[in-house]
Amino acid sequence: MFPRVILKGTMIKKSQQKKRTSPCNYKERFFVLDTQDLKYSERRPGKKPMMKGCIELSRIKCAEIVCSDVPIPCSYKYPFQVFHDSHYLYIFAPDNDCRQRWVRALKEETKHNNLVSKYHPNFWMDGKWRCCQQTEKLAAGCHVYDPEGYASKKPLPKIPDAEMNDFGKGTVIALQDYTPQGDDDLPLQKDQEYILIKNSHPDWWAVQDYLGNIGFVPRTYVVEKSVNNLNRFEWYNKNITRGEAENLLMQEGKEGAFMVRDSRQAGVYTVSVFTKAPGSNGEKNPRVKHYQIRQTETGESAFYLAEKYLFSTIPELILYHQHNAAGLITRLRHPVSLDGGCSQETGPSDDQWEVEPEELILGQELGSGQFGLVLEGRWRGRKVAVKMIREECMSDEEFKEEARVMMRLSHCKLVQLYGVCTQRSPMCLLFEFMENGCLSDYLRSRKGHLSQDLMLGMCMDVSEGMAYLESSNFIHRDLAARNCLVTKNNEVKVSDFGMTRFVLDDQYTSSQCSKFPVKWSAPEVIKYCKFSSKSDVWSFGVLMWEVYNEGRLPYENRSNTEVVESLNAGLRLLKPRLASGTVYLLMELCWKEKPDDRPSFAQLLDELASLSNL
Ligand code: ADP
Repeated sequence: MFPRVILKGTMIKKSQQKKRTSPCNYKERFFVLDTQDLKYSERRPGKKPMMKGCIELSRIKCAEIVCSDVPIPCSYKYPFQVFHDSHYLYIFAPDNDCRQRWVRALKEETKHNNLVSKYHPNFWMDGKWRCCQQTEKLAAGCHVYDPEGYASKKPLPKIPDAEMNDFGKGTVIALQDYTPQGDDDLPLQKDQEYILIKNSHPDWWAVQDYLGNIGFVPRTYVVEKSVNNLNRFEWYNKNITRGEAENLLMQEGKEGAFMVRDSRQAGVYTVSVFTKAPGSNGEKNPRVKHYQIRQTETGESAFYLAEKYLFSTIPELILYHQHNAAGLITRLRHPVSLDGGCSQETGPSDDQWEVEPEELILGQELGSGQFGLVLEGRWRGRKVAVKMIREECMSDEEFKEEARVMMRLSHCKLVQLYGVCTQRSPMCLLFEFMENGCLSDYLRSRKGHLSQDLMLGMCMDVSEGMAYLESSNFIHRDLAARNCLVTKNNEVKVSDFGMTRFVLDDQYTSSQCSKFPVKWSAPEVIKYCKFSSKSDVWSFGVLMWEVYNEGRLPYENRSNTEVVESLNAGLRLLKPRLASGTVYLLMELCWKEKPDDRPSFAQLLDELASLSNL
């Protein structure tokens, strides 16, 4: 009897790395699932399809989605796993529906096999399971495997009866990945849909994933599916005229106070923002500026404001401009609503970032930076690094606001900000403790002893952290080896992201001045202070150069002016002796004159991964 085809389609497959030395790569394959096998082949235009692999269904022990907190380094972002014999096959589907179809079909066809009772919900990566930290690849799973498709159902968090009427609010889409911080939280995967269960809390919403797991997620990480349903956002005022908006914002009088309102033109929205910044055409000061939210004419929804950074929803666009002025007169800082004035950022979430002074024990000095001393400390049983912020160094008020956002950025390749202690003077920031200090010192101290694997691994670590920032629309602005830190396991994490915005020292913030990091800056940053993820990519190229030169300073004996001149003449840093031709090629890609010609961090991570032997 011939096998019957159940599903077929193109997806991306990660190499199975059966041998420790085989390279890690991602390849597009045409998959066919029939009643006997799961087969995949290579299809190239004009060539005969070539069969690359065939797994008998009877050998499959588990098929399940992968819930990942790491950026996916290929263009299809929906991973699932097939565990067969003693191998894990990771396959990436182009969308969630497709992934569900494949996982469901595979489960259906294998449900009578000799299956695992537990599986690993996250990836095997860098020699350990990301879900349970076990370091044996064939170690038993850590989550109950459900062959019927509804694995790891979590009990419903308790919801008081009075709030039950909030049930069934519709669907939300994750704006970015979220790694749970507590037992009741649910991980989110960017672009995936979740059912909204409860939205009465100002900061935490309960949502359900497609497996039936329910948990809390930060409200700012999700957006309701209907792009036009803006009613729930505090910055949206539906029935308000231009004049009323101006009055309200002038009354508020805070730099960056803003709202979104309906334009006179039906279906169009306007952002109105208050500023005290002097205008160039003798405009009155302070004043309210109005920007229309525009849409591209491609048919699909793509919204943009002053510059063409495109977003698929208005809430995403607003979220981006809450962190980056990017062409607006000022960043959107304080949402203002008709019935509440400026939203007060109070409530239970404040406890989560405000550190009580009595809970913090300060220890010895670790070093000093542009904001002041950095001390070792202990907080709630863990070792922390405490940055004491000298008063004249930082714009306090702005930072306090932004700290909340920075705390929500959470990734294993970013140095985590745990909290802020504003009740003591000077104000201090608590960070994850990094035993091996900053990357530039680390490189210098191990000069002559750095293996190729270690150097490549460091670049991959940084690109992974940066790919996460890139996907969160967050710009670092000062990426360099001195702003990365090293753990006791020699893992590198990105630190100090976004911090330069709060530095008050002109010498540091103006590109003309001595402390500005010209040698790490892209030409458009030096010329027009135009920061973007692509200007971070330029800095990443310089960071790679630092790594492969074992911590040497770039353009060692040259002044900033000389560096700018040589860049203008099209010259670039030379190939480090320890870098292969391929590695240097990646640096050169980062230093393309035009930002758009530079690769994204996701692409860089992909390229670096393909060079890795680990
Ligand atoms: P700033 O951001 O104020 O310039 P840095 O981040 O450069 O300060 O920190 C100064 C020094 O303090 C670093 O070189 C490093 O030795 C130490 N340090 C900073 N953060 C940490 C941390 N999270 N863990 C361990 N040491 C740290």
